[in-house]
Amino acid sequence: MTTAPELSVVMPIYNEQDALPLTVERLRPILDGLGVEYEVVGVDDGSTDATPLQMQKIRQDWPEFRIVRFSRNSGHQAALKAGLHRAFGDYVVSIDADLQDPPEKIPEMLELARERSLDIVYGVRGDRGTDSFFKRRTAGGYYWLMRKLVGKRMPNQAGDYRLLSRAAVDALKTMPEHQPVYRLLVPWLGFPSGEVVYVREERVAGATHYPIGKMVHLALDSVTNFSAAPLRLATWLGLGSFLVCLVLGAYTAIEHAIGNTVPGWSSLFIGMLFIGAVQLICVGLLGEYVGRIYSAVQARPAYFIGYDSAEESAAAEAEKLSDCVR
Ligand code: UDP
Ligand code: MG
Repeated sequence: MTTAPELSVVMPIYNEQDALPLTVERLRPILDGLGVEYEVVGVDDGSTDATPLQMQKIRQDWPEFRIVRFSRNSGHQAALKAGLHRAFGDYVVSIDADLQDPPEKIPEMLELARERSLDIVYGVRGDRGTDSFFKRRTAGGYYWLMRKLVGKRMPNQAGDYRLLSRAAVDALKTMPEHQPVYRLLVPWLGFPSGEVVYVREERVAGATHYPIGKMVHLALDSVTNFSAAPLRLATWLGLGSFLVCLVLGAYTAIEHAIGNTVPGWSSLFIGMLFIGAVQLICVGLLGEYVGRIYSAVQARPAYFIGYDSAEESAAAEAEKLSDCVR
């Protein structure tokens, strides 16, 4: 491709031999109808079924379909990362390969982003009626916790179906995380954003690749990516048990004074309480330092500049200059 396409569609694909042909069938007319140059970046996350073959076939009569293949299964977020890093488009939409995210919303997202000069358009799930009760409850808990960590900037029920501008993608590319959790990182950028509501459809074919183990993994990644709170748990427990130690210490002293105790019990009991509390506090202190080391190693950029008047005047100058030359 000589010039950058206006739109890239990034699609992580893992063992989707049944769903992929149906997805392509629905996606292609929509993208063709947009009237812009586009590419689809299909990231094959180390599929072990007929998916790689199918992708080759799709590419044969759809030149806009690019194939990026992992050598082994590395997970949904890793596939998203590769897709975002390799996409050329001015706008990048990420979408699942199982038609749970309706591709019909892509034109709406693009229009909203252009109209209001937005950097992010979230696909927000208006209705999860097609998800199982279990999935809805766990997802509800997950989003509640994540909004506590990232703040209200994170829209409720926004998954990985979203549009990003080139500026947002470039900002994400500067993130040094090895295992980025984009649904948290994107709101954390704080770029101008909008929302498009959609109905989460039923998976068109095949089964979910997010069993409970992967869901727990994603939740753990999300929490540890954004918060040192779990490390601080030991400090709070330590302080709590120190207070309990004081109360129980007083109680033991009274019992001892009354002569209500077996010889040796008081000293052992107080010693045990005290050492337990001190140990927890020390672990908590270590945790505080580990937390700080972690965020230093993460080395996230401290800020992103949304506007600089100097750049604007420089651009105006350049325009004037080019007018003069003409
Ligand atoms: N996926 C992937 N690698 C994985 C698991 C899933 O690339 O290890 C892709 C999958 O092909 C789909 C998207 O990520 O396009 C979402 O996965 P899935 O539909 O299984 O998750 P769910 O929608 O059930 O949460
Ligand atoms: Mg799915």
